[in-house]
Amino acid sequence: MANRRDFLKGASLLTLGTLAACNANGGAAAANQPAAPGSKHIGLQTYTLGGELYNNTPEVLKKLADGGYTHFELAGYNPQVRGFRAGFGQDAATIPAADFKKMCSDAGIAITCSHLTPNNLERGAKYDASTKDAILEYWKTVIEDHKTFGVEAIVQPSLPSINNTEDAKNVADVFNAVGELLGQNGIAFGYHNHSNEFNKVVPGGEAVTPYYQRSFRRPGDDTPEPETIEKIFIENTDPSKVFFELDCYWTVMGQQDPLTWLKQYPNRIKFLHVKDFMVIGASGAMNWENIFTQHYANGNKHWFVEIEGTNSGHQVEYALESAKYLLSRDFVK
Ligand code: MG
Repeated sequence: MANRRDFLKGASLLTLGTLAACNANGGAAAANQPAAPGSKHIGLQTYTLGGELYNNTPEVLKKLADGGYTHFELAGYNPQVRGFRAGFGQDAATIPAADFKKMCSDAGIAITCSHLTPNNLERGAKYDASTKDAILEYWKTVIEDHKTFGVEAIVQPSLPSINNTEDAKNVADVFNAVGELLGQNGIAFGYHNHSNEFNKVVPGGEAVTPYYQRSFRRPGDDTPEPETIEKIFIENTDPSKVFFELDCYWTVMGQQDPLTWLKQYPNRIKFLHVKDFMVIGASGAMNWENIFTQHYANGNKHWFVEIEGTNSGHQVEYALESAKYLLSRDFVK
């Protein structure tokens, strides 16, 4: 009787044989041949590039466009200098917003989105009625340059301080106000998760329950069921004012299934962060086919590659390798 090992061996040979046959006749294998750069809608979160973005910026942008990137989501815009710090420390040069926009346009890359977090609050400050005006003041300072960039949306990627359900709802209230302000200026507002948004809170609680800790409830326990911060955000924000960008990798790190969230909130999660353990697709751990298929089925088109390790010195290379994988997958449109 064939054992499991024989079965796998047979399956592997069958796969190789099928591919060989397809390659020979130019048939189905063409499906996984790389599509031409520019023929698919491929986004990059520029955080990925670290300092490499500022080392001959026009040349880097051309390489990325030639490799298949068509859309950017920016990171690192600084309203205090009205642009990007192209370096670190006192010698940092600044790339003004209009100059960066022109460089991207010259390369054929559209700027779809930008990540920003208010930096005018004290560290650890709560988002509530006492800080709302200061938060809105911050957002007012970024609007003009983001009109110059031509973004569709701005996304906040950082979680404010939260200990309980009330804190999370207060943040949602502030997000609604930010969404209203940006919406009046033709820019959508979104929120991007890491793993801590899958921590759980309860009304009146003093601390979050870590996402990796199962809640234990005794029979008859009538205290409120803990809820994830992400769910409270989604269900307490106005869909016309706030959307969500799901970072698929951080969702998995938060012990949640991105697909479940995409199915549960098809009208709220509009953007994705396509992030893997390093180069997209290389780990085999993320089921990108299911994730992309659901994202498109939800009626959405934007997603952005993101790769950590921004000091590697190889970020442009990793981004280009990722684009190769994405261009060669039929499920990416
Ligand atoms: Mg991300």
